[in-house]
Amino acid sequence: MNYYDSHTIIYVSGKYLLATEARGDLYSQTLHYGNGVFEGIRAYETPDGPKIFKAREHFERLVFSAGTMGLRVGESIEEMTHIAYKVLEANGFGDAYIRPLVVADPSMGLGTAEKAHLVMMAWQWPPLLGDAPVRLMISSYLRPHPKTVHVEAKVCGHYVNSILASTEAKKLGFNDAIMLDVEDHLAECSGANIFVEKDHTLYTPALGHILPGITRQTVIDLAREMQIPVVEKHLTVDDLKAADAMFMVGTAAEVTGVTAVGDIHFPLEWDNTFGHVLARKYHMMVTHADPQPATLI
Ligand code: PMP
Repeated sequence: MNYYDSHTIIYVSGKYLLATEARGDLYSQTLHYGNGVFEGIRAYETPDGPKIFKAREHFERLVFSAGTMGLRVGESIEEMTHIAYKVLEANGFGDAYIRPLVVADPSMGLGTAEKAHLVMMAWQWPPLLGDAPVRLMISSYLRPHPKTVHVEAKVCGHYVNSILASTEAKKLGFNDAIMLDVEDHLAECSGANIFVEKDHTLYTPALGHILPGITRQTVIDLAREMQIPVVEKHLTVDDLKAADAMFMVGTAAEVTGVTAVGDIHFPLEWDNTFGHVLARKYHMMVTHADPQPATLI
């Protein structure tokens, strides 16, 4: 996958530059120790032009993530939203994935670098795991304990955990993996939250050991609007064994059905699940095809 070519424009601390001409510092604390933060945001082509889905929520989470690591983002939420639209426009993108990244200054010490810079790029990225339902496994890697790092923040270094889980799953022929937390509860996938359907109710892991996904909250809100009961609680592998269906949600993956986790096969056909209905609703919402646009940001 080529994320950029010789025409791609990106934003680098105050300037719009060709991606091929932008430079990073090899002594950045982000590169050496993973002390940087990022977001993953999608823009969708809508009847009113490209619209960034929940820009405010994503940029607020970026500022929150930066705060957990003591990194300061100079740009305001409004400025970051404006920059994101400028990057889309400069590259002629409608549907696109936007990646803001806060890069720390050079520092080889272990105190947070004094300064950091915002970089923003965008590329065209179809749903991360494709459109068809996928197969997962239970990862041999656990999510980090919330007392080891701020698991509720999108910090670059945390993603070595996701890379290990995703790589292991792909090597074994699965699309991705569900990681458990240190208490053996289901946590989340490498880059997506999960929902389980059982007896006409949706269940999703409670906050605490997971990234509080913006898609997760959107799906909870959509389900409740549709009178589908949603319960946030600790779930175990036994809950998966008893489940009727399951799906995963995230900005990159959107709403993706799951047919099986290891040798646990879900009895409901994807087309007959709440997940399938919510996947369609989500798509209508982000592309403004929803007849009730009042819920849009
Ligand atoms: N969990 C992890 C570990 C993630 O990286 C992501 C992607 N940001 C998610 C869940 C889903 O979050 P969101 O819906 O905000 O994209």
